[in-house]
Amino acid sequence: MLRLHNSIRPAFRSRRWAHNIPSFSHLNTVNEEDLAHFSSILAPTSILSTLPSISTPADDIAPYNVDWMGKYHGQANSVLRPRTTQQVSEIVKYCAQRKIGIVPQGGNTGLVGGGISLQKEIVLSLGAMNNVRSFDPVSGILVADAGCILQSLSEHIAPHNHIMPLDLGAKGSCQIGGNISTNAGGLRLLRYGSLHGTVLGLEVVLPDGTILDQLSTLRKDNTGYDLKQLFIGGEGTLGIVTGVSILTPPAPQATNNIFLALPHFDNVLPLFQIVKRQLGEIMSAFEYIDRTAYDMGLQHGLGPLLSADEAGGSQCFVLVETSGGNQDHDLEKLNNLLESLLTADEPLINTGVLSQSPTQFNSIWALREGLTECVQKEGKPYKYDVSVPLADFQKVVDAVRERMISKGLYGDHAISKVMGYGHVGDGNLHLNVIAKHGYRPELEAALEPFIYEIVADRKGSVSAEHGIGSMKRDALHYSKSDVSIDWMRKIKQVFDPLNIMNPGKVIP
Ligand SMILES: Cc1cc2nc3c(=O)[nH]c(=O)nc-3n(C[C@H](O)[C@H](O)[C@H](O)COP(=O)(O)OP(=O)(O)OC[C@H]3O[C@@H](n4cnc5c(N)ncnc54)[C@H](O)[C@@H]3O)c2cc1C
Repeated sequence: MLRLHNSIRPAFRSRRWAHNIPSFSHLNTVNEEDLAHFSSILAPTSILSTLPSISTPADDIAPYNVDWMGKYHGQANSVLRPRTTQQVSEIVKYCAQRKIGIVPQGGNTGLVGGGISLQKEIVLSLGAMNNVRSFDPVSGILVADAGCILQSLSEHIAPHNHIMPLDLGAKGSCQIGGNISTNAGGLRLLRYGSLHGTVLGLEVVLPDGTILDQLSTLRKDNTGYDLKQLFIGGEGTLGIVTGVSILTPPAPQATNNIFLALPHFDNVLPLFQIVKRQLGEIMSAFEYIDRTAYDMGLQHGLGPLLSADEAGGSQCFVLVETSGGNQDHDLEKLNNLLESLLTADEPLINTGVLSQSPTQFNSIWALREGLTECVQKEGKPYKYDVSVPLADFQKVVDAVRERMISKGLYGDHAISKVMGYGHVGDGNLHLNVIAKHGYRPELEAALEPFIYEIVADRKGSVSAEHGIGSMKRDALHYSKSDVSIDWMRKIKQVFDPLNIMNPGKVIP
């Protein structure tokens, strides 16, 4: 039986906790008159509505009212799909006059319920704004509409030997505007830093319809307040991002990866130190997968990267990627690393594999990137994307499993799996708790605020990269002080005094 480690017992039990249902009495619902006005701005095919004059089939509007996990269900009766910034501006101006709530929606891959209406706000989908505006292969600066899909931007710049500075499992659906609005992290953050550094400029439609054109392509611009930073991670609460200028790095000339099996979690931290020291500037990812997640991946057809014998007796696994300029040099470093790890007096790893072809490189990554989709196939996931000190990763996972066992909620009848994987290099743990037969209030009550308390106790963050949305709105205070939340409210009030822009999200 797993024991709740003393050092991880939460100390914040007395903090306030309530999931408040926001009241939207200040907002109006879209009616036929509103649709007639939107029809003067948009082509008929750009308006979806269940109201009689449009009568979009329920199946066509349903995808905009449910999130990727099937956890959040919206009630929007209408969806608008503008094609230009000017159209977005006119729509927003009208919504401000009529006090209609707006939920900006990108690829709808968000995991915290941020892009789904809470009551009957209109959904403004950016998917039809999907043109690349310019790309300069010398500077690597890409300017694009917010609705461009991340993967299509990668494909656009690949022939020029550039890559996007971010990469995530949802790249085939998520949009660059959604990435910016959630300040998405992902698999390349360790190497290329966060969007707060790589985004050079934004074009944003503010909640009164004004177009804020800050689509700068300058690397350096030190002229007063850097307003764009407020929209990076703003989750659509301060305005609608319509255009993006972003710095893309040159594609590395050589990429390699290795997959390592470790006997104990305790070896991860010393391994990280050794790998960093030996690989230096070529290390570009250091990803962690616990045993439960690895076995789940195998069950769903990912891998196997190691034989059952090789993987047996390993508590966890680590994926290391290198991105450098010279294949021979990088391979030599990786081989030296593997050799020193395997021949050490007290080896930190049981075994490891080094990819030797693009196919093997991709299949190592496929195991890590495919986990989120496997989780989805296992049941309904409660997903907690937290930052905690690396030394506490496994303790947090174990404490949650122990909690569910002690409440009689662990097993196929309730929570069937608790697992952790994530971006160790960034201190970001993806804690996934799977409810085999669906979401249930008593499961959520056992998990929250327990998990937020553990995280706060470790001085971590309740959201490392997915954002706050509606899921963690009432947990914000576990990671932000009252003074910070107060200033967030003041900023929201300045930009959106009518509270029409993604109401009920982020701010408690
Ligand atoms: C398989 C999978 C893997 C994932 N991996 C990662 C990962 O590694 N790292 C990570 O950070 N996230 C990850 N995510 C979460 C998600 O993909 C990211 O949060 C992504 O950035 C969301 O982009 P989107 O276009 O789907 O936005 P949506 O889900 O549509 O919206 C997300 C939020 O942004 C707002 N928004 C969207 N577009 C705009 C806009 N143009 N202007 C203003 N507000 C807007 C919405 O209102 C909402 O609040 C993953 C999700 C899945 C399903």
